[in-house]
Amino acid sequence: SIQNIPQLPPDPLFGLKARYTADTRTNKVDLGIGAYRDQDGKPWVLPSVKLAEKAIHEDPAYNHEYLPIAGLQQFTSAAAKVILGSDSKALKDDKVVSVQTLSGTGALHVAALFIKRFYKGSGSVYISSPTWANHIQVFETQGLKIESYPYWNYATKELDLKGFLGAINSAPEGSVFLLHACAHNPTGLDPTRSQWTEILGAIKKKNHLALFDSAYQGFASGSLENDAFAVRSAIDSFDGSLPILICQSFAKNVGMYGERAGVFHYVSATKDAALQSAVLSQLQKITRCELSNPPAYGAKIVSKILNTPELYAQWERDLVTMSSRIKEMRQTLRSELESLGTPGTWDHITTQQGMFSFTGLSKPQVDSLEKDHGVYLVGSGRASMAGFNLGNVKAVAKAIDQVVRE
Ligand code: PMP
Repeated sequence: SIQNIPQLPPDPLFGLKARYTADTRTNKVDLGIGAYRDQDGKPWVLPSVKLAEKAIHEDPAYNHEYLPIAGLQQFTSAAAKVILGSDSKALKDDKVVSVQTLSGTGALHVAALFIKRFYKGSGSVYISSPTWANHIQVFETQGLKIESYPYWNYATKELDLKGFLGAINSAPEGSVFLLHACAHNPTGLDPTRSQWTEILGAIKKKNHLALFDSAYQGFASGSLENDAFAVRSAIDSFDGSLPILICQSFAKNVGMYGERAGVFHYVSATKDAALQSAVLSQLQKITRCELSNPPAYGAKIVSKILNTPELYAQWERDLVTMSSRIKEMRQTLRSELESLGTPGTWDHITTQQGMFSFTGLSKPQVDSLEKDHGVYLVGSGRASMAGFNLGNVKAVAKAIDQVVRE
């Protein structure tokens, strides 16, 4: 019989969303879930997506057939070029195996299964402290051991580079290091280029496996190239010695949240046709027994954008539209707080990038923001910057000012 099933608490983020929805205050503000909103606080369908959808629907060959098990090949290969660069040596050398996944989360799940079954390393997956909460359970549910590496220095609101490097150096040789490719979630704090070079150098020295989570490419800085810096440097510097795993999501940068368009890439250390073919066969088996084949619609849209030069150019403009609105909101929030003389320092809001800001607000302050002001953010003090707009930023700054002074 089915009994004694422990009741789990609601997912913190989706629970927050439910409280927000139930709140009847008209001036409530949702800074919870990381989804882009336009200047009116509305979800935004990218112009490039609208054009791609139109083209897909006008195609006389339009249908809803199954995709192959590894997904839509035009999508996965164009996606590889997006993250690796169209002139990537790894691609020219034919060292990349790519399969379509259920967005970034599905790619992480595939990575977890792949590591569990085939990676002969020390067995632990090192994640940043803090990290996106789902990272922990995606790996733990596969029976992988999680360790954390220092990342955010709570006192200085800066990268704890020393702690990070120390963890890399003291982890057993061949551990797995999960790295946020850009726009670190939840802190919004990324290593600088020279810090990345140090981090990747230390990882290489210890023969660790780098697993990149790329969920915000182009969304962070507005430039696909800039935001791929860490991944591409790792590929260049590990070439010939270590493989690299990449989990790629198009949820944020194409606004495909609910369409679940993602890719898992395995970049082989050296070209090895037999190994790569075996890897592909195993990745296909993982997909076949869990999904049979991946969802088609989002992949077709993204593929149309990536494979049509005019749409690609429109997409690059859309990335600038989103990233620059967020940058403007960071600037405005910071200057509002500074002009209110809110106790504390607020420059981190503009040095951080991407969807989130780790505000430094405490749990009690976050609770008061929700209770007294209808401003919703997660308990860690992480705010989704996309939730700000010219209509609410002043009021939210005032609310923050009040709770900080309480
Ligand atoms: N990784 C990180 C760091 C994220 O922030 C997210 C989205 N919140 C994801 C992966 C995956 O998102 P999705 O499954 O929607 O692609």
